[in-house]
Amino acid sequence: MRRMLIAAFCLSFFSLVLPCSGAQTPTSKSLQIYFIDVEGGQSTLVVSPSGESLLIDTGWPGSEGRDADRIMAAAHQAGITQIDYVLITHYHRDHVGGVPQLVDGIKVGTFVDHGPNLEDSAVTRTDYAAYEKAIAGHAHVVVKPGWGLPIKGIEVHVLSAAGDHITSPLPGAGTANLYCGSEPAAAVDDSENARSVGVLITYGKFRFLDLGDLTKQKELELACPNNLLGTVDLFLVTHHGADLSNSKALDWALHPRVAVIDNGPRKGSSPAAWQIVHDSPGLEDLWQLHYAEESDKAHNVADERIANVKENCEGKYLKVVAQSDGTFTLTNGRTGEQKTYSKK
Ligand SMILES: [Zn+2]
Ligand SMILES: [Zn+2]
Repeated sequence: MRRMLIAAFCLSFFSLVLPCSGAQTPTSKSLQIYFIDVEGGQSTLVVSPSGESLLIDTGWPGSEGRDADRIMAAAHQAGITQIDYVLITHYHRDHVGGVPQLVDGIKVGTFVDHGPNLEDSAVTRTDYAAYEKAIAGHAHVVVKPGWGLPIKGIEVHVLSAAGDHITSPLPGAGTANLYCGSEPAAAVDDSENARSVGVLITYGKFRFLDLGDLTKQKELELACPNNLLGTVDLFLVTHHGADLSNSKALDWALHPRVAVIDNGPRKGSSPAAWQIVHDSPGLEDLWQLHYAEESDKAHNVADERIANVKENCEGKYLKVVAQSDGTFTLTNGRTGEQKTYSKK
């Protein structure tokens, strides 16, 4: 907040005549994305260049507020004191579970989701009820495919929600997908995963895709016979890198430059899905939130691209700072090491 005030002050009084040294931090005109370690759930904090924020999912409940605490630590790092939008992709515990503890700890503006729970299971009904209770009194928006969110400086395109999805291609997308021919048919999924809210977030030329836990049947509806999504710079590997998601026809057609897996030490990042992402044409690097204990060394990236190498970890994040020309830098929160991916 202080940085924003200084920036506003400089803009009003000095910007026409003087460069305002000190106010322009390297991230002040950048999109920031924190992949927060919630031990195999999802929690992704997006802070737009204007300082507005979107949190996609909240991790797990319990553990004495561990995941809400990690989200608040990332918010603090990002220089924000409230979260403007919290988007819940679907009502599985590893995504929606952290909401009650989060609203106890930090101010949240608007909750965004796909509408009522659509999964016929006791645990999901329980978690949805806890969510409804926790968001009472907050602004609440139910989104549909094709909608956006009004966040200044970036565009948030809703691609899927409640089992529906966009049916016409995004601008520049829609070409025939050569990988569809060899893709096996996908099973019908009537769990909440298939109802995930998926979003593409763009900042100028930079494109980041997060499909929540969307499973193969819906992935293929977006990817085949024509790829409705186009290509992306940064891909949050769907469903923590599980085999129920990550059809080759989608992951390869996306042509991600960099992929991040939000796996836990013993959740997600299955060897088969890991290999599909790893072999994706044009991939420059794959990063993981955790070393996958149940995979072998050959199905884990090198330690320098893993945020948490020990099962009993400190909950380190991976952070991306992106520029509007499509260049972005990834920082390993454990080591502080950075790698920049220049726009080609
Ligand atoms: Zn999940
Ligand atoms: Zn799920």
